[in-house]
Amino acid sequence: MIERTYVKAKHFLTKSKLNSSLACNPYGGCEHGCLYCYANYMVPGRSDYEAWGNYVEIREYPNLDIPKNTGSKQLIFSSACDAYQPCEREIGSTRKIMEAIHESDLKIQILTKSDLVLRDLDLFKKMKSVEIGFSIALSDREAKLFEPGATLPSARIKALKELKAANLNTYVFIAPIFPYLTDVIGLVDQLKDAVDYFMFDSFNLSNPQNRLRILRLIKNHYPDLYQEYLNIFHYQDKTYYRKLKDTIISHTLRLKAKVNYIYP
Ligand code: SF4
Repeated sequence: MIERTYVKAKHFLTKSKLNSSLACNPYGGCEHGCLYCYANYMVPGRSDYEAWGNYVEIREYPNLDIPKNTGSKQLIFSSACDAYQPCEREIGSTRKIMEAIHESDLKIQILTKSDLVLRDLDLFKKMKSVEIGFSIALSDREAKLFEPGATLPSARIKALKELKAANLNTYVFIAPIFPYLTDVIGLVDQLKDAVDYFMFDSFNLSNPQNRLRILRLIKNHYPDLYQEYLNIFHYQDKTYYRKLKDTIISHTLRLKAKVNYIYP
């Protein structure tokens, strides 16, 4: 049972902590409950790390007006939650925000793990600037373990193809790359005609609780990979990701695929 609470928030637009963009996080917490999520310490007043995925704060705004000097800034959905997580189907906060901004000059960027995003196709088609991306890194079988509340990757791939067929700008963020589990090249090949560009990221396990949890799961479910994961994430062996990066670069060059980001 997911705990849902309502909280008052000042404004639906906030300054992104990453750069000069704006961010919109209509929810605090995320029902997708990815076991590696590093947004799990970003909900003010919540330190119950183990409860991540089992609660969501629904943010209520006094209005959905866009400040006059906002212009064509980039607006990211979302930086600390998934705006299309399951509760959105019933609550509709993201839909209301999209309705309020769809005629603005904002450059809207969406990243999700939910095919619920397809619901808002009518608004995306009217926007001046929007791009919609999915993060995908696992097969359906592995996603059930590591991303228990999210739309299955096969359905995310299907949704990306639908968005592209509707002539929208799309991208895929292949992340976090699980060593020996993520079929990076297979995903690139499957999605090369469905996206405008690719992004790739390695696994950020700098948070010790996340690292312990993932290593424990690997030990239990993929015992043959446990030593490799220890080498990479505990002993900081960079060989796997370095070699993979070379493979990604040569493969995407061969395909003439656009890559907007690849881990350093
Ligand atoms: S979808 Fe994103 S924000 Fe939600 S739990 Fe997964 S990684 Fe975290």
